[in-house]
Parts: sequence; structure tokens; C-alpha cells
Amino acid sequence: MKKVLSMLLVFCLLSTCVAMAEGGFTPGTYTGVGQGRNGEITVEVTLNDSGITDIQVVNSEETPSIGGVAMDSLIAEIVDTQSLAVDAMTGATESSRGLMEAVSNAVTAAGADPELLMKAAVETTKEQVELSADVVIVGAGGAGLTAAVEAARAGASVIVIEAQAFPGGSTGRAGGWLLSAATEEEAAEHGSLTAEQLAEEFEIYGTEYHDRELSEAFMNNLNENRDWIVAEAKEYGYEISRFYDPGFYPLDPADESTMDYTVVYNLMDVTHETLREGDGCWITSTLYEEAKKAGAEFYLDTTATELLSENGAATGIVAVNKNGTTYTVYGKSIILACGGYGANMDLVVKYCGADPENFIYHGAPSNTGFGIVAGESIGARIEHDPSFLYNGNELYNTVGGLVVNGNTEVLDANNQPIPNLYAAGEISCVTVMDPGLFTRGHNIAWDINSGRIAGQVTAARATETEPAA
Ligand SMILES: Cc1cc2nc3c(=O)[nH]c(=O)nc-3n(C[C@H](O)[C@H](O)[C@H](O)COP(=O)(O)OP(=O)(O)OC[C@H]3O[C@@H](n4cnc5c(N)ncnc54)[C@H](O)[C@@H]3O)c2cc1C
Repeated sequence: MKKVLSMLLVFCLLSTCVAMAEGGFTPGTYTGVGQGRNGEITVEVTLNDSGITDIQVVNSEETPSIGGVAMDSLIAEIVDTQSLAVDAMTGATESSRGLMEAVSNAVTAAGADPELLMKAAVETTKEQVELSADVVIVGAGGAGLTAAVEAARAGASVIVIEAQAFPGGSTGRAGGWLLSAATEEEAAEHGSLTAEQLAEEFEIYGTEYHDRELSEAFMNNLNENRDWIVAEAKEYGYEISRFYDPGFYPLDPADESTMDYTVVYNLMDVTHETLREGDGCWITSTLYEEAKKAGAEFYLDTTATELLSENGAATGIVAVNKNGTTYTVYGKSIILACGGYGANMDLVVKYCGADPENFIYHGAPSNTGFGIVAGESIGARIEHDPSFLYNGNELYNTVGGLVVNGNTEVLDANNQPIPNLYAAGEISCVTVMDPGLFTRGHNIAWDINSGRIAGQVTAARATETEPAA
């Protein structure tokens, strides 16, 4: 990978202090238990006479794609820094605290004082690092990971910037339902919608910005994209089944008897009665492993704060890591795949009319609408639809943000592509989505569809000698 142009160390680490008191521990392996989000977490901690050499989670009910991944990162950090004074992982606070409690209890069981481990491990750095890649992706949810897999497999160098300590975003928290288009037999037998009928339904019930051409292309690709991700996930042991979900709408608004059933794919043991949060990991875990295997490089715990541009063309992003390092990441193509804005209370009140007092957002806490901020800074066309609030004040996903064309290029106010700038997933769904319909798998289907296109198009640009017109 030809990504690193240069690395500028402005300041070295201000200080790195190791908390472990030397000679304070009795070597051995000790068990400890802590309370996680879904139940008890049991760990086995191995100590030598000066510190922790290994931590194994032997029992845990935490959701693999959220708490499970967070615990893996945290364990590495605890062993690396020899400190329990590490920050809980964003988005998995209860799992993090449960793990730290379990480790602390194991240290107590070893006859040592866990306070020895409570000194701050690493002070923040003032490091500034420049990176570059063919394709720079902001967000490692369903759309960003899909784009990363496609671009890296096609030979592009790929850098993914992710605000959370682990990949997945809202997709990893989702029920994992994936929309599919009915075959003629399924349509006849179950009253399910074909690709053409789905596009028609979206035109009737979608946002006022609905783009029939884009939506039809999306629907026509549904089954190919479904087969792609289902086959990828099978390699990781995920068995995916098909079921028929009772629709929300009559196809003919004047005739209730035309109520549809959509074809949805998800994990084997899930029926339409049990939409379990966290099952979306069949998609995100698979894609994360494949993206890494294909050579994509991930910067986790790193939040994009600014879109860089020159003469109206996107050139890169600025992002800040949890430890204080600032990355300036230049790219031939920038893909904004940073989800919606459900975690940004100001935007939620403004666009969804939510009551801040009782509002509940079920998505990733890092989805603060960076795509909108970045888009506005470069003159992108921004459209909003009042996203659907469940029970009057709960939000799962937003429907508003950037407008893209069929190549996932971000459009400006005159509907012209902004050079080098692409978007995929929830932030770009306003022209194809019906605000209330995530439960039938439309959003994740759009993630895969838009992510694949964005990855393929930007990888093709990487091999061009001249920038695309
Ligand atoms: C509980 C729940 C259940 C759902 N169930 C379904 C379902 O079954 N089927 C369905 O189709 N849809 C479902 N949805 C909706 C669907 O999950 C989302 O719309 C979709 O997954 C969004 O994918 P995405 O890749 O665009 O965003 P995400 O998956 O949210 O990924 C965006 C990523 O960008 C990162 N990010 C954000 N800002 C920054 C920044 N400034 N810098 C760096 N990184 C940043 C975030 O941390 C996140 O990881 C559900 C949503 C929820 C919350």
C-alpha cells in the first residue's frame, strides 16, 4: 500500500507513564467477574510479577459486534498500557465497564490492589500525521465497509476513518434485515413485490425527492447484491434465511387489499417477529474481515472533523484520534459513509421535531451528521425529510443529507457532481428511501448497493492517469 507520504512528528509523546507497580503481583492466572450490558462477563487474567500478560474472556453475553469487539480493543489497550485507567469504548460503555470490573476483581483475587492499575496510562499526544490513499472512506458501517471491500479488492489503496473504537456503526446494531426483490414465483405465491413494484412503491411512499431512475437501478440490483453479501457471510459461518414480511402499505393507496409482503433475508434463526438488535453483525463482521484481508487500512477511534477541498474539489479530510493525534488524509476520492445524524440533538429537533427530553436514538452514538457538515462546507445539495419517529420519540435512522447520482457522486446545488466526492449509505438515502421502512431491510440494502458502487467507481478512478472529468 502506497499510502504514507510522510509522517511529521511535531511533538513527541508528552509522557507515557506505566501504572503497574513493579514487583507487586503474584504470578498466575486468576478469574474475575464483572457486570456487562447483557449479563456477567468472566475473565481469566494472567499476571507475572510485574503486570498483566494476558486477559481471556471465558464467558460473556455481550453482543459480538458491539460489546464483543469493544472488549477485544480494550483488552489490547489494558495489556499494552498496563493500566485500568483507560476510557470506556464509545458506543459500548457498559460492556467496557463490565470488562474492567472483571479484570479488577481478578487482580484482587490475585491478592493485589487494583488501585495499582488506576494511574493514567498514556497522556495525549500532539502528533500530526499526513497520510494519503486512492480512496479515503469516512465511516466503517455497512456502507463504508462495503465500499472498502470493493475498492481494496480492485487494487486501490484504501484508508477508512472510524470514530468508534470498533467498526459496525448502526449497521452492527441493526436487526440485520436485508430487502430482496421477489421472483415471479414468490410474487405469485406470497404477494411479494418484484423490483419494478418496489420502485413503484417507493415512488408512492418515498420522500418528495424520490429519484425514480436511481431507485429503479437500486431495485434491479437488489438480488445480485443480496447474493453477494450472503455468499461472503457464508464463508464466516453465517447461515442466512429468507422470509416474507407483512408490508406497511397497500401498493394501490386506495385499495387495502393490495397490501404487500416483502422478501427479507437475515440470520437463520430470526423470524419477522424477532428483530434483534446486534444481528446486523452478520454483515459488518464479514465485511470488516474481508476489507482488512483485501488491504484496507483502518484508523479506529478517529473522528473526521473537516473536509479538505481545493478549487471546489474534495482533496481529503482532517481527523483526530482519541489520543490526540491529528491526521490529514489526502485521497483521489473521498467517500462519506458516516451514517445519519440521529446522535445530533440539534439536527434531530430541527428536522424530526423530536422532544429532546424523552428522545431515544437507537443508532451509533457517533452518527452526528458529519456528512452534512462536510457537504455544506463544499456546496453540496442537502435535502431533508422528517425522519420517522417510532412511538413518537424514538429514532432508528434518519432520511436526509447528501444527494447522489447513480455513480454515488455527491451533487451540488445545481445537481452537478462535486469532483472527487462520493457518498454511500444512510447519509445519501434521501432520494431512494421511504422514511419509515428500515424494518424491512431497505436501509442495509441501500448500504450494500451504494457502497459497492462507490467502491468500484473510486477504485476505477485510482488507476486513471488523469483525474476523472
Ligand atoms: C437498532 C436498529 C435496527 C435497525 N434494523 C435495520 C434492519 O434490520 N434493516 C435495515 O435495513 N435497516 C435497519 N436499521 C437502519 C440501518 O441500520 C441504518 O440505516 C444503516 O445501517 C446505516 O448504515 P451506514 O453505513 O450508512 O451507517 P452506519 O452503519 O451507522 O455507519 C456509519 C459509521 O460512520 C461513523 N462516523 C460517523 N461520523 C464519523 C466521523 N465524523 N468520523 C469518523 N467516523 C464517523 C460511525 O461511527 C459509524 O460507524 C436499523 C437501525 C437501528 C439503529
